[in-house]
Amino acid sequence: MSGEEVELSEVPYGEPYWYGSAPGGGGSSSPYYTKKHEEFRAKVRAFVEAELLPYVHEWDERGSFPDELHRKAYAAGIYGAAWPAEHGGTPPPGGFDAFHDLILVDELARCGCGGVLWSCFQSFGISLPPVLAAGRPEVIQRVARPVITGEAVMSLAVSEPYAGSDVANLRTTAVRQGDHYVVNGEKKWITGGCKADFFTVAVRTGGPGFKGVSLLLIEGNRKGVSTRRMKTQGWWCSTTAYITFDEVRVPVGNLIGEENNGFKYIMNNFNHERFVLGAQANRFARVCLEESIKWARQRKTFNKSHIEHQVIRHKIAEMARRVESTHAWIEQLAYQYQTGQSDSKSLGGAIALMKVHSTKNFEFCAREASQILGGSSYVREGKGQMIERLYREVRVSAIGGGSEEVLIDMAVRQAKL
Ligand SMILES: Cc1cc2nc3c(=O)[nH]c(=O)nc-3n(C[C@H](O)[C@H](O)[C@H](O)COP(=O)(O)OP(=O)(O)OC[C@H]3O[C@@H](n4cnc5c(N)ncnc54)[C@H](O)[C@@H]3O)c2cc1C
Repeated sequence: MSGEEVELSEVPYGEPYWYGSAPGGGGSSSPYYTKKHEEFRAKVRAFVEAELLPYVHEWDERGSFPDELHRKAYAAGIYGAAWPAEHGGTPPPGGFDAFHDLILVDELARCGCGGVLWSCFQSFGISLPPVLAAGRPEVIQRVARPVITGEAVMSLAVSEPYAGSDVANLRTTAVRQGDHYVVNGEKKWITGGCKADFFTVAVRTGGPGFKGVSLLLIEGNRKGVSTRRMKTQGWWCSTTAYITFDEVRVPVGNLIGEENNGFKYIMNNFNHERFVLGAQANRFARVCLEESIKWARQRKTFNKSHIEHQVIRHKIAEMARRVESTHAWIEQLAYQYQTGQSDSKSLGGAIALMKVHSTKNFEFCAREASQILGGSSYVREGKGQMIERLYREVRVSAIGGGSEEVLIDMAVRQAKL
């Protein structure tokens, strides 16, 4: 194999079309990808094969993954690929574009374990951008390099027990006292929160509604910050945290952007988070499809191969139809990103709909895969363990980062319906 080649799945529909694996044989082509994407894809796949796939089951059962994974992924040229070189990033030759981004998410998701993906690979991807976009130079200097190189962990803390979807009504307060803010409040469901060295925190500095919201960088070791791990349905090796801020004194220099103007950074951030969630859910759905075909080919029921039953074949075709069409939509949105339409106004509604569509499809595929595998998909061991785990990750995909009802409503409002 040359540097940019990957060992393709032998299962039809096991890879996106552009890998040259069109079902029915023969190659396929795509206008979106070049040799540099193939090289990057090979790098990510090699990492997933060597460092994730053999271990994710054990990590999820244990409830944690090794801290050194952050640094290993950085050394492999993956972890820092999306970030500027001046802060320690390792963009691929020619720069990291939207299709590198899609490849990264899609290939990583082959491991079928959202807990490690979000706690290790994605949490800093949603918490660092506001700092880079609007943080003081001193704050960027202090935070960016350690986070991008995997030496420090960073989380986004927006959601609260009383304000998840309704971000504009969050209650955590930051009251200015001289050259400090004093922060009081609670944050809930914060991914990676138990290990975080830095939090990007949404706080209320002004009056009611979105016009009173600011973003603050808060160090995890500040006096008055406490974290408690929450037990979750899935994502067991992620550390999902409940965080309490009790009279936490934060220097005003930690303010990200202008006071009472934090909402726009949160909204812009959501676009990319939802793109990632949608792309990841579609690879999870593809994994369900692939595992179903593998199982159905080797299992015998009623004296014939499981896959020869028409009902099973229909289930597989239905999954394939949905996965392939969703991937085409994701690529189309990546192209819009590529061509500069990444702000929340121009792409927000379309990304929201894609995220809803993809996570619903994941839900469908997880269920169908579980039916095809039968009892083996209900035990946390053996060949069905991947489907068992993914089934438990369906709900968080549909709810986290913007829940279905809220996103659909947002999309139609943006379309001025
Ligand atoms: C495992 C996990 C990890 C997470 N990680 C993070 C993180 O790192 N950082 C962070 O800030 N947040 C995080 N979240 C929070 C997540 O973003 C919120 O759970 C999500 O935004 C939904 O908010 P909520 O749970 O408060 O639901 P609510 O806002 O209470 O809504 C409940 C349900 O009602 C629906 N609903 C709400 N309003 C309406 C309406 N007007 N009309 C119709 N239906 C409506 C919603 O779609 C939802 O299904 C995480 C959540 C989970 C489960």
